Amino acid sequence: MMQELIAALAAEITTAELNNAATLDAFRINYLGRKGRLADLFDQLKTVPADEKRAVGQQLNALKQQAQARFDEAQQAAEAAADNTPANPDFDYTLPPVPHALGTRHPLMLVREEMLRVFARIGFAVAEGPEIEDDWHNFTALNFPENHPARDMQDTFFVTPPAGAEPGTQPHLLRTHTSTVQVRVMETEPLPIRRVMPGRVFRNEAISARAHMMFHQVEGIFIDEGVSFADLKQTVYYFVQELFGADINIRFRPSFFPFTEPSAEIDITCLICKGAGCNICKYSGWVEIGGCGMVDPAVLENAKIDSEKYSGYAWGMGIERIAMLKYQIKDLRLFTENDMRFLRQFEAL
Ligand SMILES: [Zn+2]
Repeated sequence: MMQELIAALAAEITTAELNNAATLDAFRINYLGRKGRLADLFDQLKTVPADEKRAVGQQLNALKQQAQARFDEAQQAAEAAADNTPANPDFDYTLPPVPHALGTRHPLMLVREEMLRVFARIGFAVAEGPEIEDDWHNFTALNFPENHPARDMQDTFFVTPPAGAEPGTQPHLLRTHTSTVQVRVMETEPLPIRRVMPGRVFRNEAISARAHMMFHQVEGIFIDEGVSFADLKQTVYYFVQELFGADINIRFRPSFFPFTEPSAEIDITCLICKGAGCNICKYSGWVEIGGCGMVDPAVLENAKIDSEKYSGYAWGMGIERIAMLKYQIKDLRLFTENDMRFLRQFEAL
């Protein structure tokens, strides 16, 4: 009699559904509770003949353990499942996701790439060089005299020479212009040379709306037989009109640089007032965008190029300067402050 009851209850316990909180609760009360079916069978143990009591008792204990094990396992599974449900049960999984915010190109990179594209169309390939330079490539090879004020500590960041450098090695510095790369290509590349060199340069300047200790340049150089100032002017005209439009005028103002002779500064029609005069162009109608000239024969000779046979022109422009004109930005510091309100205004990729 007891054996049959135990077998029937064992079958029930093995097959009972335990898949949610309600069935778990019912199982616990029905089988494991103080007034449950197992407790009821334990009560009936006293009616079992004495010689069977021990065996029946053992079967009942085993069944109780089995019921408890099933219950514990189901409860753990239910808790694990509960951990995966969202904190907010009303969350609507069919809503579209919040899109990832796309970054924008930095205005200096946009202008740099546009400038390089314009020069690439007339055959100028990019050349790059190190930001830490030696005195030769930054000054001496470019015809800066020994006592030139640009070599002064107040204009240039000098750095400790690299580890293992020979004693008495030449001074090292953060390059003050990308003309260093002009020297490097003249020293190493076969003629004719037609290169454009973008890069970051450093000057020992107090940071203000109009000056910074770090800025960017795009320089270019062309060296071949019979290159004239007319070729230089044509390249500058082409570049300015490609970048700013055919209605922009250009003028060359005589100037002086140690590494070019003759030298000129390049002015273009003020983009803000179109030449009428405004506070950006100081009411002149013109703004300066860079410098240029014919490569000084001494600079060619320093790079072991025969200045009797070859001539060339070079120019340099500030990327910040052109970006400020193009986007009408009035404070140089905005380029490096990483203010999202400023950066978000430029073209997304
Ligand atoms: Zn103006």
